[in-house]
Amino acid sequence: MSTGVETSAQLFERANAVTPGGVNSPVRAFQSVGGTPRFMVKGSGPYLWDADGNKYVDLVSSWGPMVLGHAHPAVVEAVREAAVNGLSFGTPTVGEVDLAEEIIGRVPPVERVRLVNSGTEATMSAIRLARGWTRRTKIVKFAGCYHGHVDALLADAGSGVATLGLPTTPGVTGAQASDTIVLPYNDIDAVKAVFSAHGDEIAAVITEAAAGNMGAIAPLPGFNATLRSLATDAGAVLIMDEVMTGFRVSSSGWFGLDGVAGDLYTFGKVMSGGLPAAAFGGRTDIMAALAPSGPVYQAGTLSGNPVAVAAGLASLRAADSAVYAALDANAKRLGDAFTSALTVAGVPHQVQFAGNLLSVFFSATPVTDYAEAKAAETWRFPAFFHALLDRGVYPPPSAFEAWFVNAAMDDEAFAVIESALPHAAAAAAAATR
Ligand code: PLP
Repeated sequence: MSTGVETSAQLFERANAVTPGGVNSPVRAFQSVGGTPRFMVKGSGPYLWDADGNKYVDLVSSWGPMVLGHAHPAVVEAVREAAVNGLSFGTPTVGEVDLAEEIIGRVPPVERVRLVNSGTEATMSAIRLARGWTRRTKIVKFAGCYHGHVDALLADAGSGVATLGLPTTPGVTGAQASDTIVLPYNDIDAVKAVFSAHGDEIAAVITEAAAGNMGAIAPLPGFNATLRSLATDAGAVLIMDEVMTGFRVSSSGWFGLDGVAGDLYTFGKVMSGGLPAAAFGGRTDIMAALAPSGPVYQAGTLSGNPVAVAAGLASLRAADSAVYAALDANAKRLGDAFTSALTVAGVPHQVQFAGNLLSVFFSATPVTDYAEAKAAETWRFPAFFHALLDRGVYPPPSAFEAWFVNAAMDDEAFAVIESALPHAAAAAAAATR
């Protein structure tokens, strides 16, 4: 059980005095679950420790990057070695060529790669490139999909935007959003209708290769393939956002599971090793439109930072088939544990997978889009969350986020989860609206 959270509470008070909401990314503030955000001071393998000395089995994994678990020795050593040789040069480096080759080697539709610093930057740049290459303006996105805090992509977004219940955000002008067409996820007929009305104006369709930001919702059979053929027929660019799924759900991401090729891809999280690095890439002809080989401008002082690149490369090199087998097995084991605890407690639920990303929806029927995710009994989630947190499990602090396992989880970590879950399921059962 938790030993108290006084230090985290004091730190949160200090943080609130200097940072809006006390955090540097909204979901961390625990607004939708209540209580004191935990200030973490250490991570090792499957565990985190907070400033009060509480130990948690981490089911957030830094929102995806830590597939190997925390402070993996090979990654820490690579970071140490790179840092000793200098932190940033603003010149080309060997490591960024190695990382680009590693990404291209794993995801065949990606023929050229540009490194950036965050997933947001990757999607923002991919959208600009698609517009520049097609000379068109409109973008199609799906409700509940989150592609970072890019102005044009915040309409009906998932992740923190969903957690806070925001339909959109002030600060995004009508002009910035007016070329964004938002459709229900998994609704093939809606996509066909938009392409038949606006096909020659559409620069790009951007989709999470499998949705993870409204909870884990896999594309229905044929959905991604239909996007592929509609985009091809209309001369539009298909952007597969694999920031979350990339190098996590298989060694070549969601592409490795469904084989539907995008024209452009966005990556982040796992390929960063936990440091700020991300990428976009894709077809040679489209990527050639990027400066300096083409006219579409994109740049970054810290892009391809040698320390971040070293961390990403070390992570990818350590993520072998045994790691992917462990991620899949751990996701299944966690999902089975959710199912049995919630079934015993009599809570209507769906444990949903998108590869080894998973979520619990308090819903009697499967969830296939954002409207259904919002219609679930999300009011049960805070009780479920806190019963786990109090017993040494760190879940995502939102009903609209995926749960991220890592390959370091072992029987000891699962024992903590499995003994906490019956309490959490009972708390979810007893919760009231
Ligand atoms: N795209 C997807 C699918 C994401 O899940 C995220 C972040 O969670 C992003 C883009 C934005 O990445 P970042 O938070 O690194 O800007």
